[in-house]
Amino acid sequence: MRNLVILLALTLPACGAESYIDSAFIPYLEDFPAEVTVSIQFVDKIDNGATASCIHAEGAIVVSRLHWDHYSEVGKKALLWHELGHCVLDMRHTDDRESLMYFIVEYTSEDHLVSGSDELTKLFLETTH
Ligand SMILES: [Zn+2]
Repeated sequence: MRNLVILLALTLPACGAESYIDSAFIPYLEDFPAEVTVSIQFVDKIDNGATASCIHAEGAIVVSRLHWDHYSEVGKKALLWHELGHCVLDMRHTDDRESLMYFIVEYTSEDHLVSGSDELTKLFLETTH
C-alpha cells in the first residue's frame, strides 16, 4: 500500500493529472483500506476554521498547516483517515463519539479513540496499536 501511495504521488502529476499528495501525509496513508485517489495538500488556513476539509468537487483534501503541527502522530493519522472517509469512502458524520467519523475531530490526544465502533475506526485501531 505504501508503494502504491508513493507511486501515485510521484506519477500522477507527471501524467498531467492534478492529484498530488504532500510527502508529509504519506506515512499516515499506508494502511488506509482503500486506494487514495484524491489530492492532499497543505493550506495556510481553512475558511471555517477547520483543521482539514474534503473538497468533493475538486477531489482534494486540504489540511491547515498551523493545526497539523499541533497534532500527535495518532491524531494526524485520525485526521487524515476522517477526511479520507469523506472523500474516498463517501462516509458521512456520525453522532457516535467513538467513531472516526464523529463530526468534531479533535484528535490531539492519543487516547481519544478507545474503542472503535465503526468499521473505519476498528481498522484504524488495528493498524495503530
Ligand atoms: Zn468531517
